[in-house]
Amino acid sequence: PAAEVGTPRRTKEIIAKYGFSFKKSLGQNFLIDGNVLNRIVDAAELDQSKGALEIGPGIGALTERLSQAAGKVAAIEIDQRLIPILGEVLADKPHVTVVHGDVLKLDLRQLFQQQFADCEGVSVVANLPYYVTTPILMKLLEERLPLQNIVVMIQKEVAERMAAKPGGKEYGSLSVAVQYYCEPQLVCTVPHTVFIPQPNVDSAVIKLKVRNTPAVSVPDEAFFFRVVQASFAQRRKTLMNNLTSFVGKEKRDELTALLNSIGIDPARRGETLSLEEFAALSSSMLEAGW
Ligand code: SAM
Repeated sequence: PAAEVGTPRRTKEIIAKYGFSFKKSLGQNFLIDGNVLNRIVDAAELDQSKGALEIGPGIGALTERLSQAAGKVAAIEIDQRLIPILGEVLADKPHVTVVHGDVLKLDLRQLFQQQFADCEGVSVVANLPYYVTTPILMKLLEERLPLQNIVVMIQKEVAERMAAKPGGKEYGSLSVAVQYYCEPQLVCTVPHTVFIPQPNVDSAVIKLKVRNTPAVSVPDEAFFFRVVQASFAQRRKTLMNNLTSFVGKEKRDELTALLNSIGIDPARRGETLSLEEFAALSSSMLEAGW
């Protein structure tokens, strides 16, 4: 049998055979390291009863591994030039479906019904295109897809922001959004050398265990996230000053009273508030009719 796709030699062979040229604008950095592929697939906790959704299969290095670990694999690839290559690389795998399209535009609920109806759980497993990491993850989470976990290779700084706890400079609205839906866990950091071509940034694998119910309960989710955004609007400002810009100067005194009534010092900065505190804050602001 042919060598695995995720090796320097076979990847170079496939690229040469099809005359494939990398598009930087699509975040194309292909994995050529078996150990890293193992780490990613192991973290996803797959078995034959489970499904795997891959975003951006490239020439199929991870797809091939997923086809061994899961009962069903669906892979969404935007680059038309890769579709025939994937067709050949994955030819003898009837339980793998390649879908040509942009993950940000596809109806993922419908795709889930079509591809994973028989699965007992689905994981998203991907080496993501770094230019669209956050929009892709937010789409997966906001659509409340029935996911058990998400295991993705992303830019190291973004992984650290997702997993950050209150108080540090990495903690921001992305940390709150991700932790509202998931329990994040850094799996490993990864050197440049495991990719062709090598990216200019450091990478890490992060596992997001999707919660059955959000971390905090809020009466109005959209409003909760607007309050979070507003609290981090200008990081050097206090919570009081950021929120004043949000609700209007005339409400300054009311705002001070409201913060004191829920035990949050108005002089604190947004980056020190826990999810529970943001939930309490947005709930009282909503009650106050803001
Ligand atoms: N999974 C392969 C691997 O690990 O070797 C390739 C990973 S590469 C970092 C990202 C892949 O995502 C590329 O194949 C790229 O064409 C694809 N891609 C980029 N934007 C996409 C989008 N919006 N929807 C689907 N695929 C996309």
